[in-house]
Amino acid sequence: MSTTLSTVPHVLCAEEPLLPVVGGDLQVPLLDGSTVRFANLDYAATAPALASVAERVARVLPYSGSVHRGAGLPSQVSSALYEAARRSIGAALGARADDLVVFTRNTTDATNLLASVVPIGSGDVLTLDLEHHANLLPWHRAGDGHRCVAHADTVDGTFERLEAELRRRPVALLALTGASNVTGELLPIRRAVALAHAHGARVFVDAAQLAPHRAIDLAAIGADYLAFSGHKLYAPYGSGVLVGRRDWLDAAEPYLAGGGAVREVTTTAVEWTTGPARHEAGTPNLVGAVAIAAAFEALGALQPEARETHEEALRQRVLDGLAAIDGVDALRIWEGDGEAIGVVAFAVDGYAPGHVGAYLSAEHGIGVRDGRFCAHPLLARFGRTAGALRASFGVGSRAEDADRLVEALRRLVEEGPRHAYCDGPAGWVPEQDPRDLAAWTGLELGLDTAPATRSPCGNG
Ligand code: PMP
Repeated sequence: MSTTLSTVPHVLCAEEPLLPVVGGDLQVPLLDGSTVRFANLDYAATAPALASVAERVARVLPYSGSVHRGAGLPSQVSSALYEAARRSIGAALGARADDLVVFTRNTTDATNLLASVVPIGSGDVLTLDLEHHANLLPWHRAGDGHRCVAHADTVDGTFERLEAELRRRPVALLALTGASNVTGELLPIRRAVALAHAHGARVFVDAAQLAPHRAIDLAAIGADYLAFSGHKLYAPYGSGVLVGRRDWLDAAEPYLAGGGAVREVTTTAVEWTTGPARHEAGTPNLVGAVAIAAAFEALGALQPEARETHEEALRQRVLDGLAAIDGVDALRIWEGDGEAIGVVAFAVDGYAPGHVGAYLSAEHGIGVRDGRFCAHPLLARFGRTAGALRASFGVGSRAEDADRLVEALRRLVEEGPRHAYCDGPAGWVPEQDPRDLAAWTGLELGLDTAPATRSPCGNG
């Protein structure tokens, strides 16, 4: 019998982080006055920086100068570093020789950029209703029209619906998530590419969740465009990337008008440049670019499939733990047990998601996400218009984080919270919270009032 991930005893798996991250041993105060190591189960929102990324940034900062805009040594070094980062990111993603790697602020920015270059009259843009808003809303502006296809209960059924839409009217672009930000489930991207290309449509992969968790070979997958955010890829320094086919990018109006995107300007006319600079007007984010390149370097040095194995062990640990608690349900888009990245969405009967999130943080030092995850249509399909909870892992996660979550949820369901919480103007918070975050962190947080005089519930 072959050994599958779920038959590997958990105790052997993911006991330690796969890579060191900044803040991996962060201590946080709890309501009862004790302190605990923070269990970061919110990698899908923003992941901590890899220690190696922070070190690379620190090495580069003394040379930080204006990219492509200066004769001084720092400016020359910065320009070289920025372009070297572009090349190494392209190589890490398996980009084709003619693809452009354009730096953006994040995935949202990258998707908006791509939406601005889809040629008018080339056909519709197709998405599924399970997408993050960043891969729904920008398409309202693109091409001839945006068609949002309701996913079916199975992957096969979902592909049948996509195929029917591709046959119905010309499609310029099929824009799909590589991995759901809600459930972590993976879409078979190669299958989507084969289907779309057979109907003359290009494919955009929203890899905001996929890129941090899986090696990507763009040329092998055959997708035409792909985007992701540095802050989810252990490089939280304000950059993202859009990579893909040059022709649409070179032919479209620049995404931003300004310096760096031009060849020649007169008071009445402009000749725009081509290549990535066309869409990167303004002084670029050197540190953001270098950080993403450093993150790919560190992730690429891991054993193949190390990330999958690590995260799958943690995901199964949480899923098994949740399955043993009455009234806690994990959410899935598709029937069956298809592959997923390290993300688990769930709901707790009788508790608002925000209430659970506040309890996990204040009583157990666990950070999860609650709400609708910028995926309102999908949460509506789940019948969870009040939202749900999401635990997500990455290379800095360890088994103890998963176990702490399961134990905290078991206690919530069996014993209830120890403290009272209210749904105040800023969301769910403890009614009485003596903790002083500014004093704890030593950072100027600009909070209006000291804990003693705060009224988080908005009732005083
Ligand atoms: N797509 C997916 C699948 C995401 O998870 C996110 C972020 N949650 C985004 C797009 C948007 O990323 P950003 O906020 O970095 O632009």
